Amino acid sequence: MNLRAFVSHRVVTPDAVRPAALLVEGDRILDVIAPGQIPPHAELHDFGDAAILPGLVDSHVHINDPGRAEWEGFETATRAAAAGGFTLLVDMPLNCLPATTNVAALEDKRAAAQGRCRVDWMAWGGVVADNPHEIEQLANAGVPGFKCFLIHPGIDGFTMVTEPQLRAALPHVARTGLPLLVHAELPAPIDSATAHLANVDWSLYETYLQSRPEEAELSAIRMLLSACREFKFPLHIVHLSTSQALTELRAARSEGLPVTVETCPHYLHLTAETIPKGATLFKCAPPIRSRANREQLWQGLRDGTIDLVATDHSPCPPAMKRLAEGNFRTAWGGIASLSIALPVMHTEASHRGFSLIDIARWMSEAPAKLASCRTRKGRLAPGYDADFVVFDPEREFVVSEDRLYYRHPVSPYLGEKLRGVVKATYLRGRKVFSDGQFPGDPIGVEHRR
Ligand SMILES: [Zn+2]
Repeated sequence: MNLRAFVSHRVVTPDAVRPAALLVEGDRILDVIAPGQIPPHAELHDFGDAAILPGLVDSHVHINDPGRAEWEGFETATRAAAAGGFTLLVDMPLNCLPATTNVAALEDKRAAAQGRCRVDWMAWGGVVADNPHEIEQLANAGVPGFKCFLIHPGIDGFTMVTEPQLRAALPHVARTGLPLLVHAELPAPIDSATAHLANVDWSLYETYLQSRPEEAELSAIRMLLSACREFKFPLHIVHLSTSQALTELRAARSEGLPVTVETCPHYLHLTAETIPKGATLFKCAPPIRSRANREQLWQGLRDGTIDLVATDHSPCPPAMKRLAEGNFRTAWGGIASLSIALPVMHTEASHRGFSLIDIARWMSEAPAKLASCRTRKGRLAPGYDADFVVFDPEREFVVSEDRLYYRHPVSPYLGEKLRGVVKATYLRGRKVFSDGQFPGDPIGVEHRR
């Protein structure tokens, strides 16, 4: 079989950034070797000073397909992913129709994805109010884990679970051994805060922030940690926004509870203080909080309390952002960032002394581990899929609509100057993105657990 060597001065492996070559045979990495050891018969691809990182894995994406492909869809989400350096997306079980809460719905999703994906994908199964008996069947059908909400998810059709409903589902989740990903906000603190917000101006971000207090996250996380202690299931907190929870999460981990934590690029980059009046593009839940909170989240990444960074790419048709009226109460909450998450993270991380090794750990290895594919995805190492990104860490660019690639080019990042450009993305040894082009047919497939 044709042997190829992808060489650069900066190849990112878990222990080093060094001059090296990826030796690729077919769709797998055969070895990572010193440039001087490249066999003479290998076809050479020299990327010079550009870095080669493992293909990024996004364990939190809303593709909305089937059923709401006008919001996003497999073609556009995976195109944006390829342009952003992602080679595997794990799709959330809601906002699509049907929601992925039973095996028949999973099969509908598989049919919708067929032949339309530029990168590989997987599907989380949903845990809702009335499907405890579907949980093990979904696991047998190949999902890597489950997602549930402790609060209304912003759209009808995917029910939240109350604490009793959660407790009814947990023995089933625990039997699968797979992680339960939880949107950790409880309704009571939000209802109570909102009730005190009569006659306020909903075009102010501050109003929205007050309506989603940190206590909603904190009380949810406390309840989940105690359930985790009791039912012994792998618990994953999605999109942590409040840094106030870090102390308890740190303690839970030292106690040995199987808990992992994620945050998102928007919580690590944007700050409440700078969100303009009426700018509903910045609305997401839980909300973007203060600058001081942002710095504490970075500290959580530094000390390992936060394991990974996922985008929570959650697009909608532009009309649902209600940009004309600028109302934070009625606008859709969700920020799409698949195509620019790596530059956003690199811009922030490099200022704080982190390296590309850290980014690869947060955005590739740790999410691959969460999605039970750590032996195939998430590292540049022998035997792994030849999924990698060619990244120019020094080049700057301004975010423009033509660089977004997802279905509706709306973004709170438009006009920002960011550092780091994705030059090319390879999926299982084949180029799926290169300098604004998407060569070849869509070759992305479902990666089943
Ligand atoms: Zn989400």
